[in-house]
Amino acid sequence: MRNFINIDKSDYINAINLQLGLYHPLKGFVTHEEYKSILSKKKINYINFTIPINIFCSKAKYKKLELGEIIDLKYKKEIIGFLVLKSKFKIEKNIFLNSLFKTTSRKHQGVNNFSKKIDHLPYSLGGKVFVYRKKIHRYFKNSNFDLIKKLKKIKNKDAVFSTRNIPHLGHNLIQKKIIETKKKLTVFLIISIKNKYKEQTLIKTYKFLKKNKIFKDMDILFISLPTFFAGPNEAFFQAKIFENLKFKFFYVGRDHAGYRSFYKKFESQNIFKKLKTKIKIIKFNEPMFCETCDLSVINKYIKKKSCPLCKGKKLLELNGTDIKTLIKQKEKVRLSKFLDKFVYSFFKKNNFSLQID
Ligand SMILES: [Zn+2]
Repeated sequence: MRNFINIDKSDYINAINLQLGLYHPLKGFVTHEEYKSILSKKKINYINFTIPINIFCSKAKYKKLELGEIIDLKYKKEIIGFLVLKSKFKIEKNIFLNSLFKTTSRKHQGVNNFSKKIDHLPYSLGGKVFVYRKKIHRYFKNSNFDLIKKLKKIKNKDAVFSTRNIPHLGHNLIQKKIIETKKKLTVFLIISIKNKYKEQTLIKTYKFLKKNKIFKDMDILFISLPTFFAGPNEAFFQAKIFENLKFKFFYVGRDHAGYRSFYKKFESQNIFKKLKTKIKIIKFNEPMFCETCDLSVINKYIKKKSCPLCKGKKLLELNGTDIKTLIKQKEKVRLSKFLDKFVYSFFKKNNFSLQID
């Protein structure tokens, strides 16, 4: 019998993505060399890369497993693939956390998740992975193998907008601006282990948005990705993924993949000034809601508020978290201002419930 290691859903998503080449230049879970290079230089060989993809294990497993060995990957007691063990090493927790998140504060959700995981499993295994395709459908409604198939049908792989949120007017304004530059837009709905919205809510709200003729040609696809909340490092990681999927442009938000106020506004956009990608980065100033014009607008300045239309300063932040709160509170008046009329009609039809099947 082969040795095995238990994996969680994040590891499973990563194994699939590694096999599909989404994390190129990474070809497998990181070896010690790759790990050190990513943490200290944000590079693998000469290619920029910001997030090490580890498979964590206990000291007992670390001692037992030998380099060169083939190890079964077990998810929920079922063998779903294997790893060819090329490297094994200990994780220095604080170096890992500081490099990935720029903080070791447990108040940061990503730090807290990884800190707990590393306390329990302080070693890491590296090497190429292979997952059994037949088993994937048991655990993923929309796997990235399905995504690859669907992408083959998209002829013009042009601009990408990635999100974990339902569409609100701040996002719609950016999407419209991208479309107006004659780019074909593909929206990727990111699915992780814990999601802000159900997959059905995400896809249905976007389908309603497409009733608005500006958005009718957008392609909407699911993509399974791990969640880090690593702000700029994660924005870069996502850009590489869409570059690997052969898209040409990628929109990066003002606090893309951030967590509360751990990263500065625009830090996720600014990382691309230092680290280069083939995919071109699209960025805008912050989308906000002007209370004077009663419209969503792009703030004229980076550091101070000013409506580009009326020059007024009464600008409200538009963000996914606040919108979700408004839906839960059934705040119809404000929601009707912050959502596209077709998206609003979807929620109205469902009596502002988030329990949509
Ligand atoms: Zn205004």
